Amino acid sequence: MTRTRIFSGVKPTGHLTLGNYLGALRGWADEDQHRADALFCVVDLHALTVEHDPARVRRLSRQAATLLLAVGLDPRLCTVFVQSHVDEHTRLAYLMECTASDGEMRRMIQYKEKAERERVRGGSVRLSLLTYPALMAADILAYGTGEVPVGEDQAQHVELTRDLAVRFNQRYGQTFVVPKATVPKVAARVMDLQEPTSKMGKSHARTSGIVYLLDEPDVVRKKVMRAVTDTGSDVVYDRAERPGVANLLDILAACGAGEPAELAGEYDSYGALKKDTAEAVVELLRPVRERHAELVKDPEYVDSVLRDGAGRARAIARPRVDAAYRAVGL
Ligand code: ADP
Repeated sequence: MTRTRIFSGVKPTGHLTLGNYLGALRGWADEDQHRADALFCVVDLHALTVEHDPARVRRLSRQAATLLLAVGLDPRLCTVFVQSHVDEHTRLAYLMECTASDGEMRRMIQYKEKAERERVRGGSVRLSLLTYPALMAADILAYGTGEVPVGEDQAQHVELTRDLAVRFNQRYGQTFVVPKATVPKVAARVMDLQEPTSKMGKSHARTSGIVYLLDEPDVVRKKVMRAVTDTGSDVVYDRAERPGVANLLDILAACGAGEPAELAGEYDSYGALKKDTAEAVVELLRPVRERHAELVKDPEYVDSVLRDGAGRARAIARPRVDAAYRAVGL
């Protein structure tokens, strides 16, 4: 029997966060690469959908690729590469744009939120922000992907990818596997520590509520200790009414301390909860920071992993993308 194909990616739009790690990267490293034929990608083309600085994108792509290895992705077990190194993504994205309707693109929550943010800043909205899900569908479908492990915020895009795969197959004949999203049971949506009703996102301007994977331990401690908590002082797990405390409990639970609702019963003050959460996060991230520090000393190794990864990815994607071009009449 052939193994399930897994594909997932991370955008180099900022430094990777605790949300990226708990919602996605940790599962890729600890489980997915061991149980499936998995590809993990730094999706750098997606970083161009909003205003960007070329040198910064290049630097962040490199850092993200290095962090994928630092969290434990092993190139002997899985394929790690950079999206723009494999032309099949953009080739197939055009066919996806020819399969999707503009209405379904405009309905995407992330498009609405990010377009609004750009307008508030007085900037124009790039067309690629609207068509982003077509490129993401191409990323996934090019590899015959069965499962896409993502945080909760990406589930809607994977749903759209499924619709496009089904529609393409119905119109032009069986070409794509219809993938499904897999979302982690805990910490599928880590919230911003200063604004616990929005997700911890790496490209947010205010950084005090975001724990980055490469933050120094003291910075992590400071950010967690200053997390916004709710009015009242009893520790209860209620995501709707007490989002700040619930977020801390989710994070502590995801660090391996147990179930969030049960953990709540063990604390009678916010201070103690914050202290334990801060220490748990520091310990969780310690090995990642240490491995990252080792890997940056060996840029040739990282280069060779990415070169080899792009070669493997291309070899998998090309036949299916060629078949899709033939299927539509080209
Ligand atoms: P970001 O929103 O930080 O730019 P990406 O789009 O690069 O994230 O997503 C990389 C992966 O991390 C995706 O699977 C996404 O669902 C997951 N992810 C991002 N933010 C969070 C979060 N706050 N909580 C859980 N998972 C997240």
